[in-house]
Amino acid sequence: MRALCWMGVNELSVETVDDPGLVNPHDVIVKVRLTTTCGSDLHFLGGYLPGMREGDVIGHEFMGEIVETGPEVTSVQVGDRVVVPSFIGCGKCPYCADGLHAACDTTNPNAAMQQPLLGYPTGGIYGYTHPFGGYQGSHAEYIRVPFGDVNCFRIPEGIGDEQALFLSDAVPTGYMGADFCDISPGDTVAVWGAGAVGLMAAASAKIMGAERVIVIDRFRDRLDRAATKVGTETVDYTEVDSVYETLRESTGGRGPDACIDAVGMEGHGTGVMQAYDKVKQALRMESDRATSLREAILSCGKGGVVSVLGIYGVTDKFPMAVLTNKSLTLRTAQQHGQRYMPALFEHVLGNRLDPSWLMTHDLPLTEAVRGYEMFENKEDDCLRAVFRP
Ligand SMILES: [Zn+2]
Ligand SMILES: [Zn+2]
Repeated sequence: MRALCWMGVNELSVETVDDPGLVNPHDVIVKVRLTTTCGSDLHFLGGYLPGMREGDVIGHEFMGEIVETGPEVTSVQVGDRVVVPSFIGCGKCPYCADGLHAACDTTNPNAAMQQPLLGYPTGGIYGYTHPFGGYQGSHAEYIRVPFGDVNCFRIPEGIGDEQALFLSDAVPTGYMGADFCDISPGDTVAVWGAGAVGLMAAASAKIMGAERVIVIDRFRDRLDRAATKVGTETVDYTEVDSVYETLRESTGGRGPDACIDAVGMEGHGTGVMQAYDKVKQALRMESDRATSLREAILSCGKGGVVSVLGIYGVTDKFPMAVLTNKSLTLRTAQQHGQRYMPALFEHVLGNRLDPSWLMTHDLPLTEAVRGYEMFENKEDDCLRAVFRP
């Protein structure tokens, strides 16, 4: 079959690889219909996240049709149209039982590779390095999905392929970020980053009752989407002296009730701290730039929640004192999509949420290399490039 493969740092290519087959009796094989780029792919593409091997198939956000099931699969069948969360749950371990599927204890066969850094490993994820399980990704004609009963969600009638695709990762990640904020009616929520995850976090905050949602970014097209598609207020951080001051002034001096960081390590900032970070990063003394995270912690009102969805490596200058002295709660996770899927189906069916507009570019898989270039460089206002294998 055809698949998009990692061939080295900043090197992708569409190759012919072996079709996946059933390995375990609980596996299913999905024929991929739609699969999309994700900002976190840029971490291993750019060489910031190690553990890829030449020929690995990338991609972790997808939907498709089941074409084969193992003998132990009972709740889905061949022909079902399904969406699959990017992290793989087993459904049986204590973490899956608690709805923490991304922390599954069973699905990462390379757990030992993560142990030194994390202490305890994550679950597996498709197409996202060997320390995260070494599973082949979704930018391919077919993909093997372990524990099909737990990870394949039959898409209800009335939800289109393009809507369902983003329920794989971007929507549940954003929704989880808003869920972490314990939003009460009347709350103000600030969201750093107007990529797909940030926009979905903003949309989710509104669904959950936030009175005001303020999205912070520097790209005009993304801020425009936040305003027109989600109905948020926006701040272009390149046009204000201080995001903290801007948020403080617009909240009567109190600060937002919750702050969501949907940027992560590729964040871009301004000022002295940013220059310091860039130098350290260039010298390989620091693996990320935590501008948005520090800004979110500083800006958050007392007693508020800082919800972190952006992915960081090892971050220094972490403002612990600010968390303590302002009684802040910090919450973060990789996405537990399985936990939110039933609610997300309801929100889409009820017309409260339509993520299909996140797809700005619709390409055949053969043009996936070009798709990643456009996505990474934000060419042609690319928010998400979607591939059809
Ligand atoms: Zn993703
Ligand atoms: Zn599990």
